[in-house]
Amino acid sequence: KESSPAQFEFYQAVEEVLESLEPILEHSPKYQKQAIIERLVEPERQIFFRVPWLDDQGAIQVNKGYRIEFNSALGPYKGGLRFHHSVNASVIKFLGFEQIFKNALTGLPIGGGKGGSNFNPKGRSDAEIMRFCQSFMTELYRHIGPTTDVPAGDIGVGAREIGYLFGQYKRLTGRYEGVLTGKSLSWGGSLVRKEATGYGAVYFANYMLKAKGETLEGKRCLISGAGNVAIYAMEKLYQLGATPVTCSDSRGSIYHETGIDLELVKRLKEQSRESLSVYLETHADAKYIPVSDYPEDGHAVWRLPADAAFPCATQNELTEADAQSLLSNGCKLVAEGANMPSTKEAIDCFIDAKIAYGPGKAANAGGVATSQLEMAQNASMQTWTFEEVDERLKKIMESIFITASETADEFGEPDNLLLGANIAGFRRVADAMIEQGVV
Ligand code: NDP
Repeated sequence: KESSPAQFEFYQAVEEVLESLEPILEHSPKYQKQAIIERLVEPERQIFFRVPWLDDQGAIQVNKGYRIEFNSALGPYKGGLRFHHSVNASVIKFLGFEQIFKNALTGLPIGGGKGGSNFNPKGRSDAEIMRFCQSFMTELYRHIGPTTDVPAGDIGVGAREIGYLFGQYKRLTGRYEGVLTGKSLSWGGSLVRKEATGYGAVYFANYMLKAKGETLEGKRCLISGAGNVAIYAMEKLYQLGATPVTCSDSRGSIYHETGIDLELVKRLKEQSRESLSVYLETHADAKYIPVSDYPEDGHAVWRLPADAAFPCATQNELTEADAQSLLSNGCKLVAEGANMPSTKEAIDCFIDAKIAYGPGKAANAGGVATSQLEMAQNASMQTWTFEEVDERLKKIMESIFITASETADEFGEPDNLLLGANIAGFRRVADAMIEQGVV
C-alpha cells in the first residue's frame, strides 16, 4: 500500500485473492520461498501516456492512457481496454490483476494485462471517437503485438472503437495481424466473440445449478447493465427458458415484470445509443427507476424478488445491503458478468449463505477465452462456424466450473467457488513462474 498509495480497487482485488490463498500458501512453502506473491502483485510493466486529440470545435483535449502488462507467465498479455471517465491507475491495476487468474483458469496460453483511458465517450461524435482512438494507438502500437500483448474491448470499447484502433495500428506498422480481438466479422473477428461474456456467464450459472440438480428454466433473473455483457446474458437466459426482468445503465434501471424487451434494449444501446428511460415510450407497463431514487446503500435492481442475479455493469455495484436483500427475497444464485461487481461484504454474505456464487474471474471468463479463439483463428488463417466456437465456449465454461469446484473440494470448502477459482488460477500461474526462474 505504501508503494501504490490510494489504489483502493487494486487493494480490494488483491486482498480478496490473498485471503483465498491462505490454505495453499500454508501448505506449500515453495511459493513463499520463491516470493511468488511479491512478484504477482507487482506488474511486469506499466505504461502511462498522454492522449492529445482535437474535438469537433478544434479545441485540444488531453486524456490519460494506460496499459498495464501484469503477468506473462502463461502467454502474451491479454485483457481489454476501458474508456470511461472513472478510469485511473487503481482501476486498471485491479482489472489487470484479476485478469491474470481469470486467464489462467481458462486453461489457454494467455497472460494478464489491461488498459484504457479516462476518456468519456458519452456525447462525443463519431469523428471525435475516431480521432481519440487514433491518438491512443499512436502511442500504444509500439508496446503491443500478436505474440506480446493483445488488447480487446471492455466498458466503452466495442466493435467501433476496435475498428478505429486497428486501422491506426495497421497504418503505423504496415502489418495486418491479430493484434486486437473483438474485431468485426468481415475483417478478422470471430463469431460468438460479441456474445461470449454474457453467454459464458449464463452457461456457468447453468453448470452451478446442474450440480444441484436444477436448471435455469422458469427462473426469474435480475440483470444490471445494458451493455455488451448484459445484453447477451439476457439473450442466453431467454434461450434457456429463464426470464430477465431488469437491466440498467448509468442513469437508471428498468423493471419489466413480464420480461425485458431485448430487441428494444439492443436497438437503444447498440444502435441509437440512448438512455434506458426511452424504454417506457414502448412499454408503459414497465417501471423506470432513476439513479436518484436508488436506495442510499445500494442499487435498485437487487431489491426486487428473483431466483438469480447477474451483475453485468461495473465494479462494486452490489453492496452488503443489496446482498442481504437478494438473500431475503429468495435469490439462490449470483453469477458475475462484470469484474468485481460485488463488494467484499456482499461476497461474504453469499458464501456464508452457501448459495451458488460464481465470481467474475470464473463466470465472465468466456469473453477472454473466445478472444483467444479469435487469436487462434487469425494465426491459422481459419474461420470457425458459430456452432464450433459456441461449443468450445461451453466446454471451456464447464471446465472452469469443474476446476474451481474440484479445487474448492480439495481445500475442504466444497461449493466455495471463489476459493476454488483463486487457488486454481494461482497454482497454474505460480508454477509457471517458478519453472521460468526469477524473471
Ligand atoms: P459496456 O460498455 O458495453 O456496458 C457497460 C454497461 O454498464 C452500460 O450499460 C453502462 O451504462 C453500465 N455502467 C458502466 N459503468 C457504470 C457505472 N459506473 N454505474 C452504473 N452503470 C455503469 O461494457 P461491457 O458490457 O463490455 O462490460 C461490463 C462489465 O463486464 C465490466 O465490468 C467489464 O469489465 C466486464 N467484462 C466485460 C467483458 C467483455 O467481453 N466485454 C469480458 C469480461 C468482463 P452507460 O451505457 O450509461 O454507461
